Amino acid sequence: MSKYPQTIDEIEYTKWETFAAFYDPLLAQDVDESNYQQWLADWSYVSRIAYEASSHTYIQYTLDTADKAATETYFAMLDNIQPNLRRAEQQLSEKLLTIDIDRADLQVPLVGMRSDVEIYSEANLPIFVELQKQAAEYNKITGGMSAELDGEQHNVSQLGQLLGSKDRAERERAWHALMGMWQANQDALNELFLQMLPKRTAVAANAGFDDYRAYVFRAKHRFGYTPDDCMTFHDAIEKVVVPAAQRIIERKRQRIGAAAFKPWDYVPEMSIIVDTDDGEALAPFAKQADLVATSQTIFDQLDSELGSYFRKMDEEAMLDLDTRPGKALGGYCSTYPLRKLPYIFMNSTGSADNVQTLFHEAGHAFHAFEAMHSQQFVHQQRANMEFNEVASMAMELLAAPYLTKEAGGFYDTAEAARHRIEHLEGIIMFFPFMSVVDLFQQWLYTHVDEIKSADQLDAKWDELWQRYLPGVDWTGFEGIRASGWHRKLHIFRYPFYYIEYGMAQIGALQVWRNSIADHPAALAQYRQALSLGGTKTLPDLFNAAGAAFQFDVPMVSQLIDLLESTLAELEAQL
Ligand SMILES: [Zn+2]
Repeated sequence: MSKYPQTIDEIEYTKWETFAAFYDPLLAQDVDESNYQQWLADWSYVSRIAYEASSHTYIQYTLDTADKAATETYFAMLDNIQPNLRRAEQQLSEKLLTIDIDRADLQVPLVGMRSDVEIYSEANLPIFVELQKQAAEYNKITGGMSAELDGEQHNVSQLGQLLGSKDRAERERAWHALMGMWQANQDALNELFLQMLPKRTAVAANAGFDDYRAYVFRAKHRFGYTPDDCMTFHDAIEKVVVPAAQRIIERKRQRIGAAAFKPWDYVPEMSIIVDTDDGEALAPFAKQADLVATSQTIFDQLDSELGSYFRKMDEEAMLDLDTRPGKALGGYCSTYPLRKLPYIFMNSTGSADNVQTLFHEAGHAFHAFEAMHSQQFVHQQRANMEFNEVASMAMELLAAPYLTKEAGGFYDTAEAARHRIEHLEGIIMFFPFMSVVDLFQQWLYTHVDEIKSADQLDAKWDELWQRYLPGVDWTGFEGIRASGWHRKLHIFRYPFYYIEYGMAQIGALQVWRNSIADHPAALAQYRQALSLGGTKTLPDLFNAAGAAFQFDVPMVSQLIDLLESTLAELEAQL
């Protein structure tokens, strides 16, 4: 690939001319059955350069949202590169689709590509840029939020940590500080979302769809299921998981000796529920270096190859884990496709939850390593989100047996049991919240014409919340409950990206179920499935990992039973 740069340091990556010099010759080249593989390899390399630049500028921007230069570079990428890049990729896809290709490992990627070509609309390119800038606005509003509590300024992540306190009065104060911050930004968030909504509708219309949901199902390559299948899943959750979640809430209510569970005892959008164990809150590590060192030991024991991937990331400075002022919220795994390296971004504060997040993001990183090294072209490397999250969520469960100090982990036996109880209870508690987020969006994007004000959004969110998340006394705070959709960044930044988590958890729980019977065999299947990248359909990827692509009452019941019986065993170890 000597005709192309080896690193993005050699190029001016905020100028489209730089990439046009790579893409234009590919577009002009004569391609047919006899030579497409070399052409596809060149295209693949050029894509890697472009997406490396795109990832890099996004990562730099999220590391410090107050850094003006990094923000400008990121915006320059959005303005100058992204629309042109989409167009160039689109044109190359169209060219590829004219060729009769019989390679089996390209058939699934070609189905996706054909669909992308069908829904492509030139008119959408500037709208995507506007939407991305508005998504950045959400980051700016929420990343800049802080509140004073006990004489110190706290950001959302730090208040989240205080919400995990065992001191109920402290939790209550932290909750009020946090909700005060959100309430203060309520108008700005409503306004922002109501500006995004018609743009999303326009995107769907330009692509030839009646509504944004129909568009999203195609754009996200949801070929393996329909909105009706989602409804089957939500019904199973209502029948099976909501009662299981109520049992957890009731158990915890009794343990804290409260007459009623309050909003500061359970914050679904932050995956926080009161820790009712004896003793201090778990504090598995202090800083990034400790978290990395212990996790390294765990991954090494889990699988030497996975361990070597993690070591490589640390050596190549692909981990930024500690929270800092100005850092964007949340955690994610991105990739440097040219260097074939994943990158993990987190806001860790030393909690058990952070350990879980690192395992999760490491699962994504391992997926990237396996797919980037097993599949020849970038076009074959990316799986659907529903399976990407199997990679990450299964890793959270597969790493669990190594949490004890005995096995090289963070804790003594009782602490490890506490950590695992928190994690498994969290899995149960997540499903009903996931249903609220998905059902809210399913409704929202099929009723856009009727939506005149944010009050209607609040009302729908509240209706779903009360149906799926009962058992908490919100008296006096109903308005805060109703505007809860503000606090779920996916609704703003990644529309409809949520049911994937629920489906993937069903896949991950099956991998875990298999690992209880035979850990090495389940791990081997897991790695094999990750290495397939996007060369198989979603149901086939699930099957390769040892899981059925099934989301009905029998499946959900089987897995919830396993979770509840494991929880009972772990309770006995306390
Ligand atoms: Zn994930």
